[in-house]
Amino acid sequence: MHISSTFDAGNIEVVDISDRDDVRLRIVKDAGGEHSQWFHFRVSGLDGEPATLVIENAHTTSYPKAWNGYQAAASVDRQTWIRLPTSYEDGALVIQVPAGLQTLWLAYFAPYSRERHHDLIASAVEEGALHEVLGSTLDGEDLDLLTLGEGELPIWVIARQHPGETMAEWWMEGFLGRLLDRDDALARKLLGAATFYVVPNMNPDGSRRGHLRTNAVGANLNREWAEPTMERAPEVKLVRDRMDRTGVVLSLDVHGDEELPYNFISGPEGVPSWTDEREEVRQRFERAYEDANPDFQRVHGYGRDEPGKANLTMHTNQVAERFGALAMTLEMPFKDNADAPDEDAGWSPERSAQLGAAVLHPLAAVLDELRAYV
Ligand SMILES: [Zn+2]
Repeated sequence: MHISSTFDAGNIEVVDISDRDDVRLRIVKDAGGEHSQWFHFRVSGLDGEPATLVIENAHTTSYPKAWNGYQAAASVDRQTWIRLPTSYEDGALVIQVPAGLQTLWLAYFAPYSRERHHDLIASAVEEGALHEVLGSTLDGEDLDLLTLGEGELPIWVIARQHPGETMAEWWMEGFLGRLLDRDDALARKLLGAATFYVVPNMNPDGSRRGHLRTNAVGANLNREWAEPTMERAPEVKLVRDRMDRTGVVLSLDVHGDEELPYNFISGPEGVPSWTDEREEVRQRFERAYEDANPDFQRVHGYGRDEPGKANLTMHTNQVAERFGALAMTLEMPFKDNADAPDEDAGWSPERSAQLGAAVLHPLAAVLDELRAYV
């Protein structure tokens, strides 16, 4: 048997592979040494026999409680990802590899590769989006911006500030695919009313390095929005500077949550300038999203911030306060939607993309209110 992770978004350390019933592995920490949870590796030479993989430092990751009820993602063809029987025992994550396989890829969630990101940019350009490089990341990657539509309302949609939350870029694929569909009347209506500024991957460096949460120098981008610098978080600095030029009436920041098995929105209700009127618009957005795709729900989520107590280093709070915008964070599960579980796939790339396509409905539902924010 052989285990490797020297590839795009790979992350694992092999401690001891001598006993196939007790293969000892460790997740490597992100740059900065604080965060870890993402893993992605290949097992070859299985020879059709079962194996037991033990990630022995699971209890030292960023969200150890999240391993309860979690099932590891795996694929033999790198197209279809299923879940393997997984348990969290004595601080270790134990993954059972079934018999009958030769080579298998495993990951915390179905990976979204840098190659696929390039394909996404190419297809969006093909369908009429404008593509622009906002600048360089610290590893020298391009930070890509797509611009779509010609309306007066500036709407921003960004994803993968936390690079291990790959479901966020799968969501983007569904969102962009529908928004660029010329036969979709709802898309045409939105593109006439608004101009969309879309950053499908805010953290290319962390994505390629196989990080859960940080960029190349260990910055958690969603704690850098108050005073971003080119030295520590150029990704945020470049996007916020462009937002200052375009203005923002609505901004959606797409994430994944390690612990909660639900799709939900977290809002900026704790910013000083929040009003009952903006709260009503947010509620209308959420109700319309639930109607459009029942995988979204409004019952489970984070607690609400106290008035005036919002953390302004986070995108949603900074953008809401800075622009008087309706800014929101969308969270999807790493595990599954507990209200409608899929035992084979769990929460999946396909359902993430469907949720992305469905967001056109809540956007359309609040267009009239957004005109007051220009
Ligand atoms: Zn996140």
